[in-house]
Amino acid sequence: MSKLDFETLSILSEKGVEFCISVPHECGECGQTTFRAMPEDLVIFVDDPAAIYAKAHGVTKSEYRDWVDDECIAHCAAKTRAGRRCRNMVVGGYQVSAKRWLELQGGYCAVHGDGVKI
Ligand SMILES: [Zn+2]
Repeated sequence: MSKLDFETLSILSEKGVEFCISVPHECGECGQTTFRAMPEDLVIFVDDPAAIYAKAHGVTKSEYRDWVDDECIAHCAAKTRAGRRCRNMVVGGYQVSAKRWLELQGGYCAVHGDGVKI
């Protein structure tokens, strides 16, 4: 059972009450954003804020978590000769929004840009 009364929230929403959630500042590009939540979003938000932050950023929750874990930096998809994942940054992938970070997955750093292994 949710901590919030969905019915009350719906009535308030119908009467013109708006629910705005401040989405945390995660990266330089997107800055602070405000997400206009619907009653059903609030019910989720109480127990699982990350799910709503992900929705506000237009990505899935696991993508959102990976993006935060990567500190908003897209990393090169290439492997080094030692077989390890290259940890260089994708060109233009520093502190990008979650959507941009997702687009840059599979991209390469300046060294691996031409597909040559170091
Ligand atoms: Zn690389």
